[in-house]
Amino acid sequence: MIELRHINKTYRMGTVDVHALRDVSLTIRQGEFVAIIGASGSGKSTLMHTLGLLDRPESGEYILGGQDVGSLSDDQWALLRNKHIGFVFQQFHLLPRMSALANVTLPLIYGGSRRSHDKARLRLKEVGLQDRESHCPNELSGGQQQRVAIARSLINDPWLLMADEPTGNLDSKSKSEIMGLFKALHSQGKTVILVTHEPEIAAQAGRIITMRDGQIVSDQIQPGNVADPVAVVELEEVKAVDVSIPKDGRSNMQFLDYMRQAIFAMLAHKMRAFLSILGILIGVAAVIAMVAIGLGAQESIKTQLASLGSNLLMVRPGSSHSGGVSLGAGAYTRFTFQDGSAIAKLSDSVSNVCPSVTGHIQLVYGGKNWSSQLEGVGPSYEEVRAAKPVAGRFFTAEEVTSRAKVALLGTTVVKQLFGDDDPVGQTLKINRVNFTVIGVLPSRGASPFRDQDDLVVIPVTTAMYRILGKQYIDSFYVQAIDPNATDQAQQEVQDALAKQHHLTAKEATDAFQVRNMSDIKQAMESSTKTMGMLLGAIAAISLLVGGIGIMNIMLVSVTERTREIGLRKALGANNHDIMTQFLIESVLMSLIGGVAGILVGIGASLLITWLAGWAVKVSLSSILIATAFSALVGLAFGLWPARQASSLNPIEALRYE
Ligand code: ADP
Ligand code: MG
Repeated sequence: MIELRHINKTYRMGTVDVHALRDVSLTIRQGEFVAIIGASGSGKSTLMHTLGLLDRPESGEYILGGQDVGSLSDDQWALLRNKHIGFVFQQFHLLPRMSALANVTLPLIYGGSRRSHDKARLRLKEVGLQDRESHCPNELSGGQQQRVAIARSLINDPWLLMADEPTGNLDSKSKSEIMGLFKALHSQGKTVILVTHEPEIAAQAGRIITMRDGQIVSDQIQPGNVADPVAVVELEEVKAVDVSIPKDGRSNMQFLDYMRQAIFAMLAHKMRAFLSILGILIGVAAVIAMVAIGLGAQESIKTQLASLGSNLLMVRPGSSHSGGVSLGAGAYTRFTFQDGSAIAKLSDSVSNVCPSVTGHIQLVYGGKNWSSQLEGVGPSYEEVRAAKPVAGRFFTAEEVTSRAKVALLGTTVVKQLFGDDDPVGQTLKINRVNFTVIGVLPSRGASPFRDQDDLVVIPVTTAMYRILGKQYIDSFYVQAIDPNATDQAQQEVQDALAKQHHLTAKEATDAFQVRNMSDIKQAMESSTKTMGMLLGAIAAISLLVGGIGIMNIMLVSVTERTREIGLRKALGANNHDIMTQFLIESVLMSLIGGVAGILVGIGASLLITWLAGWAVKVSLSSILIATAFSALVGLAFGLWPARQASSLNPIEALRYE
């Protein structure tokens, strides 16, 4: 049934080769009770690991149930361990923080069979622990722990039981109990291979194999020592063992089990899990909030521009470049009221012209100070910029001519200086000059980059001569008659101004710019987009840092759980199982971080709107991207630790201290 032929195994310790097994040949029939005995270091465990498919020998053949196992893959080995072999170790190797029942069901996860508590209870009853099923290993005595381990080894109903010094850590009473169990199992037809260094334990077996220095030095049958199981039960011959890996074995059940394991692992180290989740949370929240701010800015600019109408043109001094040196805006052309009249004369294509000067101002009202933006304009501003006052009135042409000291306020200015009071009719100081408030401008919205409502509008003449001390006009708003003929209007304005300033067409393109709305829209949109992307990129980096945090924790977790990984492999987990388990753990952590991050991100965005008044827009796509990205972070950064875990050799992992 079990046949070893000329097996050799050598360990290299530094420069010395240790021959743990030398040319070992051995046949064990089904139904035997074999004890392997020998001094410490004689190669007993190495032999058992070879027999138990936990370690590959260097040379020699191993025929198990008619199958040459040397040619089988690691996954097939895992399957054989799971289905055909039950292991019992000296150190019990139960998983801590898991009930006896959960420990017993563990091998079922890897066999693709249903996790059956009934079956596990039955096994626990067989070893006399039916009333201890919910106890964790640290609440059980050594003998009880070993009995749980035996119940676990039996759960998949293997025909071969292997025990490496199963009584080594036990008192003499537990020893005889455990030996009693093995004898009972043997009499039920199990093949038992027991490694021990104690002669009185070995003496209870039906066959004693003695080892010394990696070789079998004696092999004795002890007739009559144990009942011959072949006589007791009709043994069903284990024919050629089935090594085909079931395709549908890896089921939802298994996935749920991995989830449970992952949650167990996180609960076992709450603080650690929390901190790595926090890393992802901050990253995702930052991405959501930053993208929301960027999109909000874009959106508010879009609505601002939309209210202007598509037939608006802007005339500005060019930022002239001569020989690559920028002379700054306005260095070339100074606009005057004559320029305005010249544009107004193009009555075929232009319906309105409005001059504009801008500057910074200091406002004082009732002991309150506020610095703001001033725009001096003509009366047509009301129509051209769609600025019909929400309270009060706009100023008239006469007030412009007379340089009247009247002002319209943006909503931010009203809020800052007047609070909830009605500002219309009040007097406030602009740069120490008294002005009468005659109206409130409609709100245009705020963005992180510019508050469009932090604005005071007064007659252009008043602004130039009384407040800012400017002799020239900064720019013109021009309204084309026909929205479909803005190109033509643009050209005509360009030509008229060139003529006015005695410039050639080429000089004129440097001297000033006539831009239509779609040009302006494009310029503003692309600048806010860049800004938004920059914010998003910075946030993404923090997500990356969070991912590295997860990787770090997972690596620690792999090292810490090396023995657990070894045990799982001994119980039949293959590399894929181990890898999946660790990947699920890291993905779960980063997904939890991701979902919490989305909530925090949305909360932060709302808070920003509420506190700063910025328009923010939380987009569904940024939520989806953040979720996907955080899962991906878990996957990508969990992959390396998971591979580390899955590539561990089961025996070395079990030995790990
Ligand atoms: P036993 O179980 O009989 O005490 P082992 O089979 O564990 O002995 O070991 C047999 C020999 O192989 C010993 O000399 C031991 O030092 C050596 N050995 C076992 N495992 C390793 C290992 N992983 N690396 C190096 N040497 C090892
Ligand atoms: Mg040993």
